[in-house]
Amino acid sequence: MEELQNEATRCLNCKTMPCHKACPLGNDIPSFIKAVKEGNLEEAYKILTKTTVLGAICGRVCPHFKQCMGSCVRGIKSEPINIGKLEAFVFDNALEKGYKLEKNSKLLGKKVAVIGGGPSGLTCSAFLAMNGAKVTIYEKQSKLGGITMYGIPDFRLPREVIEKTVNNILSLGIETKCNQELGKDYSLDEITKKYDAVYLSFGANVSAKMNIPGEDLNGVFGGNELLETGKHPDYRGKIVAVSGGGNVAMDAARTIKRMGAKKVYVIYRRAREQMPAEDYEVEEAMKEGVKFLFQNNILKILGNEKVEKLECIKTALVQREGETRLSPVNIEGSNYTIDMDYVVMAVGSKANKDVVEKTGLETTKYGNIKVDQKYMTSKEGVFAGGDLIGTKATVAWAARSGRNAAEEIMKYLI
Ligand code: SF4
Repeated sequence: MEELQNEATRCLNCKTMPCHKACPLGNDIPSFIKAVKEGNLEEAYKILTKTTVLGAICGRVCPHFKQCMGSCVRGIKSEPINIGKLEAFVFDNALEKGYKLEKNSKLLGKKVAVIGGGPSGLTCSAFLAMNGAKVTIYEKQSKLGGITMYGIPDFRLPREVIEKTVNNILSLGIETKCNQELGKDYSLDEITKKYDAVYLSFGANVSAKMNIPGEDLNGVFGGNELLETGKHPDYRGKIVAVSGGGNVAMDAARTIKRMGAKKVYVIYRRAREQMPAEDYEVEEAMKEGVKFLFQNNILKILGNEKVEKLECIKTALVQREGETRLSPVNIEGSNYTIDMDYVVMAVGSKANKDVVEKTGLETTKYGNIKVDQKYMTSKEGVFAGGDLIGTKATVAWAARSGRNAAEEIMKYLI
């Protein structure tokens, strides 16, 4: 406690609030840190729960250096305030002490179904329930938490933290129906008849492909699917390539290395500075023995039936007109091959096409569910948010989308 209070004491309580502006959830960071500084942790929790119910999770997994901490004034001359650690501390303490989320009765009598209990669905459910709605969460897995439970490894986010966060949200009186999959166990039409509004938040957790030769060979996996199902091959003594540079790539590479792979390569087309993953995650992966091939691209996966080799090529980075970040271009003649046993694709995620199609809702050209500015889909009273509508794939942005949608659902229902 003392150490964290000392950290809070370093905060300058900046009037311009750059940290708040850089937070996807718009958390009032200076005020909550002030409350921590004064030793009033319950007040700090109250301040944060105006905008978030996932503080114990976001405090641990958000890319803080790309968000709040990256904008912290203290970071100009020394270390930024450790906002993530303070946020997690405030929520851990609240969950331990059993502080409740505050309720009012604005939506008394209104029934809302939330399809998908990940960060977006949980946040939407919580804000609706805090406003008096009777919420039921439908979840295809046996537990709530979505990507946090079935995507982020335990070494980065302990299961206990997710479970406590979920239980706190459910204590608002939210009903759950787990092991229930949309399009299989029930249809959107059935649900819309039973509820006053529906929020779709079943995410986008299908790994995108590189569309290169050999991608259908045995031994090629999707990073999301491996992390979600936990069904891995035996990596002991094997060489594994992970293609991509984001969180899924880092989580997959570190998980596979911990499972005994002889060598794990992360192959990324751009340079380290352009990686979407946080720098400390790259550091951790390197410490654990993961090798990085920056500015390298996979051209082909080679083998008879199963993966045997990769054909790769080196890339140069060029600035193209109208593009904000450097683009990789293959360097002609720099091809090489490398022995490989398994390949993991972590180059992006998309929504489950079959499930989306079964909703009968309009979609975008990227296969996401189309919504208007009020998060409403092409069907009256059916809203959608999070990764399913193409929100930036981070926990905090998904949660923000859930909270925004809850506000719109409230306006629709009142
Ligand atoms: Fe405190 Fe940093 Fe935010 Fe300023 S920018 S209020 S120092 S956390």
